[in-house]
Amino acid sequence: MPKQQCIAIIGGGASGIFASIRCAEIANAKKINVDIRVFEASSKFLKKVRISGGGRCNVTHHIFEVNDFCLNYPRGRKELLSPFQNFQAADTVEWFEKRGVELKYEADGRMFPVTDSSETIIDCFMQEADKNGIKLLNKMNVKSLKKLDDGKISLFINDDESFIADSVLIATGSMPGGYRLARNLGHSTTEIAPSLFTFKIKDAILENLPGTSFSQAALTLKIDGAKPFEEKGPLLITHWGLSGPALLKLSAWAAREMMHTNYKAKIIVNWLGIEHQEAADKLLNTIKNNNTKTSVGNAYPNDLTKRFWLQLLIKCGISKEKNWSEISKKELNLIMKNLFCCELDVLGKSRFKEEFVECGGIDLKEINFKTMESKVCPGLYFSGEVMDIDGITGGFNFQSAWTSGWIAGNHMIHLRGEA
Ligand SMILES: Cc1cc2nc3c(=O)[nH]c(=O)nc-3n(C[C@H](O)[C@H](O)[C@H](O)COP(=O)(O)OP(=O)(O)OC[C@H]3O[C@@H](n4cnc5c(N)ncnc54)[C@H](O)[C@@H]3O)c2cc1C
Repeated sequence: MPKQQCIAIIGGGASGIFASIRCAEIANAKKINVDIRVFEASSKFLKKVRISGGGRCNVTHHIFEVNDFCLNYPRGRKELLSPFQNFQAADTVEWFEKRGVELKYEADGRMFPVTDSSETIIDCFMQEADKNGIKLLNKMNVKSLKKLDDGKISLFINDDESFIADSVLIATGSMPGGYRLARNLGHSTTEIAPSLFTFKIKDAILENLPGTSFSQAALTLKIDGAKPFEEKGPLLITHWGLSGPALLKLSAWAAREMMHTNYKAKIIVNWLGIEHQEAADKLLNTIKNNNTKTSVGNAYPNDLTKRFWLQLLIKCGISKEKNWSEISKKELNLIMKNLFCCELDVLGKSRFKEEFVECGGIDLKEINFKTMESKVCPGLYFSGEVMDIDGITGGFNFQSAWTSGWIAGNHMIHLRGEA
């Protein structure tokens, strides 16, 4: 009878649990004797899954073309290409479907369980882990790792426990302890910075307007010493500044540069996303010429709310009672500037409650993306957010956690001579 293989998974979050299930399924299918243990430092498994997507869990994104999917990763785009060719969003949908969990997609492409509850996803994982005999061990903080002479890896847990494993997966998310474990075994990490945050801005044009949204704004972020970052899409005014999909994406692309300037920057907002000067001129001149006898407060671009327009007039110092015919060239230029090229000072960042990730982590050059095994320490694997990979908002972060977990799960068992 072949010897039992011991597999240790550090981190009972999205990626670690997914990896453990895949690993167990492979072992069961090949009749390999394994002892799979998931060591979770806290008292609860899948904590982030539970609170994800505002409690609904945005499982993945409805883009089934791998090249297009990869475009949504500010870091890890190139490296994820091959993993996604093996397990992508369509495979996630099928994986859950086969286990009785149906996913749906919304107009913006985000995919959720049809129940709109992250508990559905957690229940599914817990049942699969149980069915496959995975040992889920909570309150087990892995404090250090040591490579042994026989190639195995020893885990030191809490203050007095240890476990020797043939393969170890580090799936510790963005916890600093996880990076330390990897450094223990010779790995390097890139600079860590928060990603997916909203901007604090104080400006007359935003006053009293929380909840006002723009469907197709164009944004340019100017940060000292960096090239400008651009993004287009839905934008939202909040109590403290700006948020919405386009702004969150911008925060992800510029995560490191923003941290370097302590979140001070300038953002140029084109509220209607009309980028050609000619089209912008035409829009305002048409309104002006067609409404000579109407007050400027009562005739404005269709895609704006009246409240926003009035606020824009306040910022321009133009009375809403004035007729359009009385608007001077200078005033028209001022409206033009604030509508299509509105420069605002970013004063800081705020947390986006629906999704939050860190950029930075294990240097991707040190990982073999065909297996997720370390190139530095054989027998050590990585998956999920612990790596220097992060996606924009919309389900991309979980997809990278599922995919890398699935691939690690495929390769952590030694198959040679065991089948
Ligand atoms: C509020 C919020 C909402 C989000 N919503 C979404 C969403 O809807 N869609 C999406 O795609 N992404 C979402 N994300 C991002 C997503 O949750 C993460 O990208 C994903 O959970 C990463 O998975 P992971 O397994 O790598 O890490 P995690 O899920 O963070 O799991 C890591 C686990 O490792 C444990 N651990 C750490 N160190 C040790 C140690 N030394 N020993 C033992 N255990 C350890 C931790 O306690 C944790 O349970 C959200 C994030 C947040 C914070």
